[in-house]
This record gives sequence, structure tokens and C-alpha cells, in this order.
Amino acid sequence: APSTELIEAQIRDIPDFPHAGILFKDITPLLNHREAFAAAVDGLCAPYRGLGVDHVVGLEARGFIFGAPVAMELGAGFVPARKAGKLPARTIDQSYDLEYGTATVEIHADAIVPGSRVLIVDDVLATGGTGRAAVDLVRKAGGTVVGFSVLMELSALHGREKLPDVELHALLSA
Ligand code: IMP
Repeated sequence: APSTELIEAQIRDIPDFPHAGILFKDITPLLNHREAFAAAVDGLCAPYRGLGVDHVVGLEARGFIFGAPVAMELGAGFVPARKAGKLPARTIDQSYDLEYGTATVEIHADAIVPGSRVLIVDDVLATGGTGRAAVDLVRKAGGTVVGFSVLMELSALHGREKLPDVELHALLSA
């Protein structure tokens, strides 16, 4: 579709960021291109329109930028999922393994009430560790995960295999 080409053209590859050997997908040109940004938000929403999404959970930090307009577009609330220690009120958390050590994601304990229908949004799906933790966190809160919508899936990293129980939608695959 022409719109995915428009979006893809605004994502640039940065070699050796943040570490040697990593090819980083930089989405900042996309954010600064009004038509491509609008097409990206529309594409992230498209599979989930009419599904009664109550909350969009955006994953820190680029998932906030995409998740907030997706929430507006779907008529849903927005819930930030943050790294440990950043949210001020009572939280629930979920830890996950990194290459070295572990990381933790948190949401406010009162943000999602049991029975809520939740769409998770992020920019890039890499190994799937972050997405897996977010799904488990939403379920721990009693929410139903309607889907996980990402801009780009890095298919060589097999993140999708960590999410067999989730309706995963990637606008682009690299
Ligand atoms: P994962 O947990 O390995 O799937 O990594 C996904 C998380 O890392 C997401 O929150 C992404 O924002 C971030 N991430 C990983 N690789 C990239 C990239 O190449 N560009 C932008 N973000 C990335």
C-alpha cells in the first residue's frame, strides 16, 4: 500500500546504536513528517477499530508518542507503562529478562479495572521481551488484551514467537 511505503521511507537505520553491532531503527523522521505520522497512527489503529478498546497502554518511551494519538482515535483512555520507579502512585509490575539482568515495567494499579479491553502499542518489536511483560502486566491487572499493535517488527529477532497468545499486528516488517 502507498501509505506503508510513505511510512517506511521515514524510518532510518542507525548503525552501532546504542551499542556496536546494533542496527537501530530511528523513527524520529517519521514523527516529523505530518503525512507519514498520520498514516502510521491510522495504520496502528486500523485492525482494532470497532473492537471496544477501553484503554491503550503505551510502552515507554516511543510507545507513548504513538499510543496517545491511537487512544484518541479509538476513543480510549491512555495508560503509560513505565520503567520501574517512574510512576508516582501505587503500581503493579512485571519483570522480564534482558541479555544481561532484568528489567521491570509498571502501570498504576488503578489504571486498568478488571474486564477492561486493552490495546498495547509500541514502536518496534525486537526480541519481544518488553511486549511479553506488557501483556502479562495487563492480564495481572485483570484486563483483556485485545491486541498488540507495533509500527515495525524486526523479524530476525523472533519476538512474535514470545507472543503466540496475542493478536499481534505489525505495520512494517524488517
Ligand atoms: P524487545 O523487548 O527486545 O522487543 O525490544 C523492544 C523495545 O526496545 C521497544 O520498547 C522498542 O522501543 C525498543 N527497541 C528495540 N530495538 C529498537 C530499534 O531498532 N528502534 C527503536 N526502538 C527499539
